[in-house]
Amino acid sequence: MPAMTVEQFKFHYIFSSKGGLFNVAHLEELQHFKTAIEQMFEVIKKKYPNLPPINFDFVLNDSLNACVKKVNGEYYIGINIGAYFLLKDMFQKMLSSNKVLLNVGNPLIETGDKNLLTALNNRPIEFDIANIEMIVPKDPVRTSYGSLYMTFCLNFLVLHECAHIIRGHLDYHIKSNHNSDWNEFEDLNPQTNLESCSLYQTLEMDADSFATNWAFIEAESIIEHNLPPIKNDTSVFENWNSFVFNWFFSIYSLLRMQGFNELNVSKCKSYTHPPATIRMALIAGNIISILEKKNKNDSIDEITKNYIASSKEAEKAYMEITCSHDCFGHFAEIYKNTDLQNYNSEILSNWNKVRPLL
Ligand SMILES: [Zn+2]
Repeated sequence: MPAMTVEQFKFHYIFSSKGGLFNVAHLEELQHFKTAIEQMFEVIKKKYPNLPPINFDFVLNDSLNACVKKVNGEYYIGINIGAYFLLKDMFQKMLSSNKVLLNVGNPLIETGDKNLLTALNNRPIEFDIANIEMIVPKDPVRTSYGSLYMTFCLNFLVLHECAHIIRGHLDYHIKSNHNSDWNEFEDLNPQTNLESCSLYQTLEMDADSFATNWAFIEAESIIEHNLPPIKNDTSVFENWNSFVFNWFFSIYSLLRMQGFNELNVSKCKSYTHPPATIRMALIAGNIISILEKKNKNDSIDEITKNYIASSKEAEKAYMEITCSHDCFGHFAEIYKNTDLQNYNSEILSNWNKVRPLL
């Protein structure tokens, strides 16, 4: 095993309280992913030339989490290996079921058995490394879909963290709280300073919006400019409808792992992050505005129907690999309940107050 480089040692030291560095030399698939992320940073840098250098690596921690830090003027993004394995396990098990995503490949050759997500139900959820049992779909097309879904989610996580750097959130956080850590999935502990919670929820919305926009910029280059697709054996990039369905399925599943609890507006306002269902609704709204800007108005109704169908399918798939009950209703409630709609709109309109602070 190669010795740590100076950069790796620094990363290890900086993330030591969270588990330290997971050296990707241990696992080839993580090396590929790390290289792809570093290439993505190069592309982002072309659009945002002021993007400072970012040290990216994996953290030896089994929970679903990501963290962004600034130490001695340098920025760091750490993704827990638990996030990587949970996503891999989740999507491969979903696609190994003959009851999920029946239009993908040949589901008839998959199993009717229930294969449970290898997870411990802590908050945040943890990959259960002691009981690891990786299952891969029998149909290679379904395996490719699973890998692509995992890539969508990991890219989303990294881009979200990247936004906390590019959009000045982390610098603001350090200036106002003297704290250089920003953890992605926090325990839902209610806070007393509601004004600060409101500000932080808007920053989280902004980071999700950045990650969503970037995913759609990449998709546009494939769908409309015929650049080579990421995976040749899926039809995800055939058109906007197929992309929205599959991308939304992935991100719904990622946030679903955080728990889709029933929402109480006054409680929601006391958290530092918007609850997962609210994030999903904000992301859906963002997709509509992205496609409207691209003058895809004709297909907006179809796209809306599509992401609702995608959410229902993701909920069904999640139930298939866990012992969870159906929580789609908690997401759908946002569109029926005026208090939740107002809360949703407040997170968006608050941006006007937040922007001058950054
Ligand atoms: Zn965040």
